[in-house]
Amino acid sequence: MTERLTPAELDRAATLLREGALVAFPTETVYGLGADARNARAVAGIFEAKGRPHFNPLICHYPEAEAAFAEVRADDRARRLAARFWPGPLTLVLPRRPECRVDLLAGAGLDTLAVRVPAHPTALALLRAAGVPVAAPSANRSGQVSPTTARHVLDGLGGRIAAVLDDGPCAVGVESTVLDLTGAGPVLLRPGGVPVEAIEAELGPVGRTLPLSAAAATASLRSPGMLLSHYAPGLPVRLSATEVAPDEALLAFGPPLPGAAVAWNLSEAGDLREAATRLFAGLRWLDEAGSARGCRGIAAMPVPEAGLGAAINDRLARAAAPRG
Ligand code: AMP
Ligand code: MG
Repeated sequence: MTERLTPAELDRAATLLREGALVAFPTETVYGLGADARNARAVAGIFEAKGRPHFNPLICHYPEAEAAFAEVRADDRARRLAARFWPGPLTLVLPRRPECRVDLLAGAGLDTLAVRVPAHPTALALLRAAGVPVAAPSANRSGQVSPTTARHVLDGLGGRIAAVLDDGPCAVGVESTVLDLTGAGPVLLRPGGVPVEAIEAELGPVGRTLPLSAAAATASLRSPGMLLSHYAPGLPVRLSATEVAPDEALLAFGPPLPGAAVAWNLSEAGDLREAATRLFAGLRWLDEAGSARGCRGIAAMPVPEAGLGAAINDRLARAAAPRG
């Protein structure tokens, strides 16, 4: 059963979040599906509940800019945009600080993190009461439209999440503008609630990654994960390994193959949720430990395609793809 909470029950919603449960909450754009971003199992639960076939990097929500900038490195451009547009529908992609508490799964293994301060009093009160960074994509099943009411959330995710904090319809109804500030020039990753012209008035020209034709733009919005750079280890990855060489690092799932130079088990018990929480940490660790021992690559054992397995396999396939 999914609890339907009123703004008067905000403390209950905050407690659930801190306990690792999933709580949908209103923002000025759409309803978000929130989880404690530090908690890998909670974050894996987001992908499970949404039925997402990809681990897209999630936006982390904070009650104010200083809380966000404690986790990511903000340059002068980021501070100017934050001062002008936060709270508001602008998401900034910035480099993670070494002390960043957000779990790797929430950022899909990347060294960057998307952060935002939403302009919604209930969202801000919830974030303040929870006192943790909250990772939140839109609170809909994968492939469905983004929800702008608690009713929409329950239609898609009822029974799959702990609670929805109902504070009526969202005002903007389109998602946040996503701006990448990790390179020399700012790049628009997704158009949204803050017009790019308003950002250009502040920063000067903004690069676009989106294809210009309407059809291509629609296709890219349906699968935003396809546009993103993704984490890939330095060592080549070999998929569906049924045996492993002594000069290979092993990414195991279930009972491990014998004979690898080094091994990391995604889940000894074959639990896909556990495997999701250990995927990016494991690839990073094997890359480092395997390279240190002169391994020629990482051999990945097969992972079943069911549930979170589809998202795990998608990321493994990307990690194994030829490098451009
Ligand atoms: P959603 O959570 O459904 O609103 O989508 C979040 C979007 O934010 C993704 O599809 C990406 O476009 C973008 N995003 C989040 N994190 C990153 C990141 N580290 N690098 C680039 N884009 C990101
Ligand atoms: Mg979405």
